[in-house]
Amino acid sequence: MPEMTPENQPVLIINCGSSSIKYALIENTEQPRNERIEGLAENLGTPEAKLSGHDKAQKFSIDMPNAQHTHALQAILARLGQQMPMAIGHRVVHGGEFFNSAQRIDADILQKIRELIALAPLHNPANVMGIEATLAVFPHLPQVAVFDTAFHHSMPPKAYRYALPELLYTEQKIRRYGFHGTSHAYVTERASTLNQHQTPYGWLSAHLGNGCSTCAVWNGQSVDTSMGLTPLEGLVMGTRSGDVDPGLHGHLQRVLGWDLPRIDKLLNKESGLLGLSGLSNDMRTLEQAVADGHAGAQLAIAVFCYRLAKSLAALSCGLPVLHGIIFTGGIGENSAGIRAQTIALLPHFQAHLDTDKNDQLPRGQEGRIDTGAGLQLWVIPTDEEGRIAAETRPLIGL
Ligand code: AMP
Repeated sequence: MPEMTPENQPVLIINCGSSSIKYALIENTEQPRNERIEGLAENLGTPEAKLSGHDKAQKFSIDMPNAQHTHALQAILARLGQQMPMAIGHRVVHGGEFFNSAQRIDADILQKIRELIALAPLHNPANVMGIEATLAVFPHLPQVAVFDTAFHHSMPPKAYRYALPELLYTEQKIRRYGFHGTSHAYVTERASTLNQHQTPYGWLSAHLGNGCSTCAVWNGQSVDTSMGLTPLEGLVMGTRSGDVDPGLHGHLQRVLGWDLPRIDKLLNKESGLLGLSGLSNDMRTLEQAVADGHAGAQLAIAVFCYRLAKSLAALSCGLPVLHGIIFTGGIGENSAGIRAQTIALLPHFQAHLDTDKNDQLPRGQEGRIDTGAGLQLWVIPTDEEGRIAAETRPLIGL
């Protein structure tokens, strides 16, 4: 039995969506990721609801027809067996201007997260529901909220203000917030650690998953990022458009008579890789289709990489010195082709990709993929759950 020190007290991480709960039990700071208890309850509230995952190496899948969030949390609790957590860390999408760091949840903090629903109507309601359901199932455990936006609080006004009248900022809090903060914080800190020098580092990080964003980090602080008021701004994503002309809304309304809910659906659910390719939002499917000569898939990947390279180039303006680029997320960690196509669009960065290292990097592993002659190029698997646990521990005195 290992000695119980603050570093090896288990923390349960909960990431709650409107119909899903992702969870992971982080037993201690040294635990290998493949030894975690983790899983996903999905399709909650429907006949297809199920809980699947792995208890360490043991995979499982249980059907739970029509289970709601509270029922799913009870099933997750049962799967933890003897491993009772000391605390719960919640991923919360929007912390607005209230929160520049993780917070221990009490009635006041929960009320502020509710108030932020106006800024994040697609995400914060599910986070609030997740916290309420977790408080009901684990009433005696301390709970912490870790915000996706918090890491970007260090952005200067020139990066976070829109060129809109000031009242919209001062009264309505309309500004750029940025998201994926836990991921950008984790991978850039990891890259600095791997360098083992004391220099302030300038990194560009590209989190490329179903949602995609870039971030410029100087000396451990976010100085700019591609997402804005909502996670719709910026890069091409799985089903999200990323940047479009703001005049598009009025045009669609005038020409097609579309109302705002219809336009929201278009931009969030029907666009991005899916809309461009007419085939899929999944990069694996698109890469396979390109190999089979699918023109839509080719175009989708070309636009994806070009917009990504443009975003990295633009964000480099926020850095006094650029030391390297980090790829992470499902696409960034696994697609050698997307990494190569993107780097090829940035010749002025003096980035020299080592194609063998890029092609041969084992799945799920971190590694440098440049030749060593110029800019550092890294693949670093993100660990949002590990980072949330690391931010949760000190707030509950662990
Ligand atoms: P995430 O949201 O981080 O889980 O990432 C999901 C995205 O990663 C999807 O577009 C997947 O197609 C993509 N992805 C996962 N594995 C691979 C792979 N081996 N090659 C290319 N894309 C991948």
